[in-house]
Amino acid sequence: MAIRRPLELQYSEPPTLKEAFTILTRDKGARILAGGTDVIVSMREGKIAPSHIVNIKRIPGLDRIGPSPGGGLSIGALATIGSVEASAIVRNAFPMVAEAAHQLGSLPVRNRATVGGNLCNSSPSADMAQPLIALGAIAKISGPKGKRSVKLENFFTGPGKTVLSKTEILTDIRIPAPPKDSFSAFLKHGPRQCMDIATVNAAIMIRMKGKLCGDARIVLGAVAPIPMRAKRAEREIRGNPIEDETVRRTAEIAAHECVPISDVRGSADYRREMVNVLVRRLFGKALGSTPSR
Ligand SMILES: Cc1cc2nc3c(=O)[nH]c(=O)nc-3n(C[C@H](O)[C@H](O)[C@H](O)COP(=O)(O)OP(=O)(O)OC[C@H]3O[C@@H](n4cnc5c(N)ncnc54)[C@H](O)[C@@H]3O)c2cc1C
Repeated sequence: MAIRRPLELQYSEPPTLKEAFTILTRDKGARILAGGTDVIVSMREGKIAPSHIVNIKRIPGLDRIGPSPGGGLSIGALATIGSVEASAIVRNAFPMVAEAAHQLGSLPVRNRATVGGNLCNSSPSADMAQPLIALGAIAKISGPKGKRSVKLENFFTGPGKTVLSKTEILTDIRIPAPPKDSFSAFLKHGPRQCMDIATVNAAIMIRMKGKLCGDARIVLGAVAPIPMRAKRAEREIRGNPIEDETVRRTAEIAAHECVPISDVRGSADYRREMVNVLVRRLFGKALGSTPSR
């Protein structure tokens, strides 16, 4: 059922975070707008009916992509998906993040859509979530009561829901420098090569310890209410050599531990099978990539 629209829709472009907090605190029906590629669609479909649109795009500095103070990389929440895809620093240090950006939507969508919007929209299939969680990214949040940091893997609380309160703004994502000898990869599976939401997407980061897997982070999308780490699968491979049999077992465990639903994009059984396939392929793709130094 469509939500009833308020009689008058207000619109603001606050020039600072402080002014944005003031509006968000004052107007309980306010909704943040970044690129608008999710918000506008939801409004048109009658799924949401904000009383006030707070366009945060004029707040300076929130689109920066660059080294973060403690090492690693900072991606501003307002950085567009297209700028992440094109960024030399992202491509060199975190190629799977650039690749995930490249596979999101179409060129016009990527030129408007922001990283922050993709994460705050909290779709289980959001393409930026899986690689950033695999890399151990941190969400930096600001609100009227101050700043806080949350591990990105703990940021999502349900479809369309995050840890953010109504008055808080995601300001940037911090990705720690990748550990030495680590390998990573992202894969997206859907009916079409582009312009399609993933049926399943997945990312991996593997750290080698000699010939054994020292650590692995396997993150699955569109197979649970939120992007999920396949922790049982990670335990299976950790401390073992990465070879056909161990990878096969790991992929099977990942397929068992995810909790997909059936929808227009695929049945739950199909999604499980795709997790099995993607996790196997992720190991091959990651180990075929250049390790971080
Ligand atoms: C044709 C089309 C194709 C698409 N294809 C894909 C795809 O392949 N993969 C994919 O993952 N997505 C896809 N999307 C979805 C969408 O483009 C992305 O989720 C996009 O990154 C959202 O960013 P935005 O800046 O447009 O967000 P907005 O629509 O502006 O906002 C999204 C939500 O986040 C909130 N928000 C935004 N920024 C902040 C912030 N900094 N702090 C707090 N809250 C904030 C808003 O209030 C809103 O609830 C597609 C959309 C379209 C229309």
